[in-house]
Amino acid sequence: MSNSYILIKGGTVIPLVVSGGKPLHNCDILIENDRIKDIGQDLSLPTENNVSTINAKNCIITPGFVDGHHHMWQHLLRGITANWSLFGYACHLRSVYGSLYTPDDVYVATYAAALSLLNNGVTTVLDHCHVINSPAHADAAVKGLKDAGIRGTFCYGLYQNPKEPGDFASTATDTFDQAARVDDALRVREEHFLNNDANSSLLTFGIALNDPPTQSREKTIGELDIARKLKARLTTVHASVISHDGAPNPEVVQDLADAQLMGPDLVFSHGGWMTDGELAAVQSSGAGIVGTPDTELQMGMGYPVVWKAADMGCRACLGLDITSNQGNDFMAQMRLALQTQRARDCDHRTVHKDVRRKAVDVLRMATLGGAEVMDMDSLIGSIVPGKKADLVMFRCDDIDTVPVVDPTATVVFHASPKNIDTVIVDGKVLKQDGRLVGVDWESLHDEIICKSQRLRDQAGKVDMEKAESLFYSIFEKAMQK
Ligand SMILES: [Zn+2]
Repeated sequence: MSNSYILIKGGTVIPLVVSGGKPLHNCDILIENDRIKDIGQDLSLPTENNVSTINAKNCIITPGFVDGHHHMWQHLLRGITANWSLFGYACHLRSVYGSLYTPDDVYVATYAAALSLLNNGVTTVLDHCHVINSPAHADAAVKGLKDAGIRGTFCYGLYQNPKEPGDFASTATDTFDQAARVDDALRVREEHFLNNDANSSLLTFGIALNDPPTQSREKTIGELDIARKLKARLTTVHASVISHDGAPNPEVVQDLADAQLMGPDLVFSHGGWMTDGELAAVQSSGAGIVGTPDTELQMGMGYPVVWKAADMGCRACLGLDITSNQGNDFMAQMRLALQTQRARDCDHRTVHKDVRRKAVDVLRMATLGGAEVMDMDSLIGSIVPGKKADLVMFRCDDIDTVPVVDPTATVVFHASPKNIDTVIVDGKVLKQDGRLVGVDWESLHDEIICKSQRLRDQAGKVDMEKAESLFYSIFEKAMQK
């Protein structure tokens, strides 16, 4: 098979590593098949026929964003949790709505969520999928990710949704219990991810553990053992989201560190209430932490811990968590993460001549930082020859972006998703001229609306008070632990 090439011509490139974070002006990028072949000024076209050229005049090119924590299935309920607490989210969305999802709902939600991420320049995602009510739900989620063409790790959730009593079209069953789920995770791993290698597969397999405050330390340790026996490439878990008296308290990281089970395959999401000892354990083990500023700030999960973690040498990155809350605008997450920390860093007793955290620091966290957390930094996260061609091109010639004085500031502080002109994953152009490529939006649009309405109609019939009282006792117990 002959090679295919894309030459991106004359853009401003923020490669993140080779230039010490500085942009390279009037720069070309040559892509050969799935990889970056060369970067520099006035690159010559290969002699082969199979070459397409992208004019990058007035454009800024960054590595694709990496979203380290996302529950893709919630895309059908966009914005429903915008005024909810963690408690409201857990009992309504996780227990009630999650139980009502059909496999087809999961497919459409995951496919649409992945397209929305691509539209926003997110080229890699960790899908923490905790809506697996049957084997068909798992297959649907994997298919949604694969059909969209996004890079990532599908983390099979061990969470068992409660079966809603009565005639509520609940798809959760008592029989698809933990043992059946583990058998099914093995099936999914063997059927869809035989070669579970990020070097050669766009999508890889992982496991998402149950939430630590809802179960014993022994149970969590047992689940991690299962994940490793299943050869999960990554294992993710929600960590330290609930505080006692607004102070850090040891939780799952401490439990795993005590049992000497920490490792670089672990991805902890949130972690706002982790102790310094836990952060040190994350650092020494090579595990990663994902901060999701919007939901953490809204839902009492503490201030995003990612900067403190990064300062301590941990792998740290950003994630979007749920579009049932906010949108997939990654620039907004970068700004929220950066500005919240700048506010916290400010010592009001002295005159500050400078701010410590820079725009490039958060751009790094959103790209290379994510690649490190997902153990893919040899493949993605920066623009260097040999890495996979996962790129985002911002067109900066409109009223909101002209003039470009500092390209990194333009991306982090001025650009919005409408400026994302082109998105390339694995050398394939998935967004071009501001539009997703090969997507039948008209029919997808109708399916999203129809499925969303059905889920909300069904949820409207459920006795939410019962769900609230069940979760209230779980939360109370977790806060007293
Ligand atoms: Zn989450």
